[in-house]
Amino acid sequence: MPDIAKNIAQICSELGGNTKLIAVTKTKPLQDLLTAYEAGFKRFGENKVQELCSKYESLPKDIEWHMIGHLQSNKVKYIAPFVSLIHGVDSFKLLKEIDKEARKNQRVIDCLLQIYIADEDTKFGLSPQEAHELILSESFANLSHIRVIGLMGMASHTDDKEKIAQEFQSLKDLFEVIAQLPNLPSNLSMQELSMGMSGDYPIAVAHGSTLVRVGSAIFGSRA
Ligand SMILES: *Cc1c(COP(=O)(O)O)cnc(C)c1O
Repeated sequence: MPDIAKNIAQICSELGGNTKLIAVTKTKPLQDLLTAYEAGFKRFGENKVQELCSKYESLPKDIEWHMIGHLQSNKVKYIAPFVSLIHGVDSFKLLKEIDKEARKNQRVIDCLLQIYIADEDTKFGLSPQEAHELILSESFANLSHIRVIGLMGMASHTDDKEKIAQEFQSLKDLFEVIAQLPNLPSNLSMQELSMGMSGDYPIAVAHGSTLVRVGSAIFGSRA
């Protein structure tokens, strides 16, 4: 049995003051989340809407919930009332749907644009060019109930640390380029860079990550 509280404390101590931990709880039982919660940790990430909603309903309401997985437009409505940050936004269509559901719930939902940085064809995301086009379009500026607060990316699944470092650096570079564009729309502010998982979060932190999404290093491997 992994010592959940100890693992969280250990990882937090490795992160600099500018990086926050999101404990990725997908497939893990409620008891594991409660163990973390009772140790004072309240920021969780899930990658499936149904699991996110059922855990939200069962647990205390001061938890910050992050949707980290691929999100389908027709499921946005289920998480819109409570989600804290949606990490994997990879199309204007999805952003528009989030805006619509956020409006219905009278809130503004924070989002990250997912950027494709790995050279694997299984990972979702926008190219840097597509990200630029999206945020500079007039239709983007008109979305008043979403706020894009940064970028998210996943490095290639490899042991090659140099390659992972290059991929994270490319995301950090894009983040800086966008942050320095003139006349950014008011619903865009580059604050968060979500990168790094159990196998590569130290590299991500070294390259400017502000949010690491760590699951198995806390809760043990998933079945
Ligand atoms: C599962 C998952 C993680 C965490 O993975 P670990 O290797 O268990 O740390 C991070 N990000 C996303 C998008 C995930 O789906």
